Amino acid sequence: MHGYKGTQKKSEWRGIIWVRSSIPTHTFIAWLFMMHKLPVKTRLQRFTSLQDTLCSLCQSHEEDEDHLFFGSELATEVWKPMLDWWRMKLNVSNYRQCIESLIKHRDCLASEKGMGLENLRVQVSFLIVWRKFLTKGT
Ligand SMILES: [Zn+2]
Repeated sequence: MHGYKGTQKKSEWRGIIWVRSSIPTHTFIAWLFMMHKLPVKTRLQRFTSLQDTLCSLCQSHEEDEDHLFFGSELATEVWKPMLDWWRMKLNVSNYRQCIESLIKHRDCLASEKGMGLENLRVQVSFLIVWRKFLTKGT
């Protein structure tokens, strides 16, 4: 799960996250995710004496960003209707696949405007997952 920055060219992920139409809160959550700054248990463990790193929601996986935003039931609950609604064909099985499909979409889309909208939709999904997680899936 480490090395998002290293494995992806900076300009690529920057282009995904920083779009003109972004709403700051959406961008901020997505940025925190990319920089591994979200307070998930696997991160908190590095700074505290936290022993339990199991996901607060399912208790069956490590609580890291990839699980939370792509692998968890909560993520599926958010992504599925969003992608259906927006008719987006994104691979959201994990972070890397998601970014790769966004880049592929960008290459397919003629207009920059269209891409901005897709990025924004992904950011909104991120924010919804995070908010739901904070309220423990309610
Ligand atoms: Zn879980």
